[in-house]
Amino acid sequence: MAHVQRMSTTLLKTLRDDPADAETASHKLLVRAGYVRRTSAGVWTWLPLGKKVLDNVSRVVREEMDAIGGQEVLLPALLPKEPYEASGRWEEYGDLLFRLKDRKGAEYLLGPTHEEIFTLTVKDQCTSYKDLPVILYQVQTKYRDEARPRSGVLRGREFQMKDSYSFDTTDEGLAESYRLHRQAYTRIFERLGLDYRVVSAVSGAMGGSASEEFLAPAAAGEDTFVDCPQCDYAANTEAVTVSVSPADPAGHGPVEELDTPDTPTIETLAAHLGVPASATLKNLLVKVDGEITVVGVPGNREVDLGKLGEHLAPAVVELVTAEDFVGRPDLVRGYVGPQGLGLRYIADPRVAPGTAWITGANKSGKHARNVVCGRDFEVDQYLDVVVVEPGDPCPACGAGLEIGRAIEIGHIFQLGRKYADAFNLDVLGQNGKPVRVTMGSYGIGVSRAVAALAEQTHDEAGLCWPREVAPADVHIVAAGKAVQTELALELADKLGSAGVRVLVDDRNGVSPGVKFTDAELIGVPTILVVGRGAPQGVVELKDRRTGTREELPVAEAIERLSALR
Ligand code: ATP
Ligand code: MG
Repeated sequence: MAHVQRMSTTLLKTLRDDPADAETASHKLLVRAGYVRRTSAGVWTWLPLGKKVLDNVSRVVREEMDAIGGQEVLLPALLPKEPYEASGRWEEYGDLLFRLKDRKGAEYLLGPTHEEIFTLTVKDQCTSYKDLPVILYQVQTKYRDEARPRSGVLRGREFQMKDSYSFDTTDEGLAESYRLHRQAYTRIFERLGLDYRVVSAVSGAMGGSASEEFLAPAAAGEDTFVDCPQCDYAANTEAVTVSVSPADPAGHGPVEELDTPDTPTIETLAAHLGVPASATLKNLLVKVDGEITVVGVPGNREVDLGKLGEHLAPAVVELVTAEDFVGRPDLVRGYVGPQGLGLRYIADPRVAPGTAWITGANKSGKHARNVVCGRDFEVDQYLDVVVVEPGDPCPACGAGLEIGRAIEIGHIFQLGRKYADAFNLDVLGQNGKPVRVTMGSYGIGVSRAVAALAEQTHDEAGLCWPREVAPADVHIVAAGKAVQTELALELADKLGSAGVRVLVDDRNGVSPGVKFTDAELIGVPTILVVGRGAPQGVVELKDRRTGTREELPVAEAIERLSALR
């Protein structure tokens, strides 16, 4: 009986209507099918069916983490402030951190991720190179005071994460731990039945080298990524870079000044001259650590300030304001050109040496034509800083890129020695001298993966789980008459003892129509209907995903379903 769950006694109330505040399919369906209930903004209760799915995801994650030699631990969620002060993240996290005080006034936080505490754990436990490498992981509740906790369990303020951390004495060791994680993640997401892409991510403020994200394509996702339809290239939109390919500088005439009154924008300029925006050079003024810097991109492209910031970090990038033009006759607003300007010039690779542009002449109402890169102005630094657009060339094969939305389900990251430095994490090396440890950190959104699966697999009728994560293997629907319920329970028993996970709808006084609708909504992969044929020992098997139905004798149904385990 261990595997049989009766609906008559299960805490489960399905809803016909979508919750008023729900925008995404997973949010609507997980609530309507009775998997989760909202407790407060971004904080969720997992009801019996939901808990089963969540546990199934965790089980797969644990099995694959164990398979690469990970050791499971469980760290507290309630953490002292000091280690996070030492790493700088008490401040850096800003409003994202849940902070609290105990009765004595000592400050604590609710852990958003645990690099600090794992580093201290290893510092406490490992003293020699012989104790390493080590991979530690936990499946644990995390807390982040997200600005917009929307989309149900997709973005919670309390959520389940598998986080792991690797500790090595060498860079090669770290690369190997990273490779092992990448392999484990690939297996995990494949077993879960998620459609996913691995994309190179921008390392961002964490500092470090290699970093990749696992993205599940879905309209409800908050991440955008580029995908090549021709080859297997995929990347975070902010990580796409094109290279500089110099053009032939010959054949361009001399610089020619043009009278272009009232053309301070690319649109007005292109219209005035009757040229496409792509023939013009857009020069954006920014301040990099307070120093006025010009960023040049083709006139038909937008500067991605996030990308620019990532490239120039830790320098701070700001837009210029009206005050920055005060007392600067050299800066003619709306008519800036790179030629003879004497400011640091950062350019997009499309502004390649040898290309000619129409650009500001640094005089009010004037532009210049035939301004050639490398001849009339120099680029100090090339950075790919434009917003990626569909059709941009794939950096790997040149085909036109597509842009899609996705959910970040995992992130692997070579941290390097940042935390080891903050906490002086050394072990004794082979030669008896201390060696600084190098680390990786790796996360999977366990609760988010449940929502991502719901997003990718649902249909109009409801959820539609892959078997590995489904709350049961088979959902038996007893149509309603006593003889049908009796046979349904008998079947449930037999299947249960064969190790098949069964959900059986034995509710009295619920119409067959409602039961069928609920079965579709709940989304167990196989539905077994005990209906009209029951007295003759005939039942109906239905595949939830394909909708294929088949009538067959009870014995055959049992045989078929037992093979599922
Ligand atoms: P996001 O960009 O979506 O806010 P993140 O990059 O801040 O995520 P990480 O710090 O990389 O997240 O955390 C590891 C994993 O934890 C993420 O890949 C994601 O799957 C999951 N995760 C992060 N924040 C949340 C959240 N608020 N709710 C549910 N899962 C989350
Ligand atoms: Mg991330």
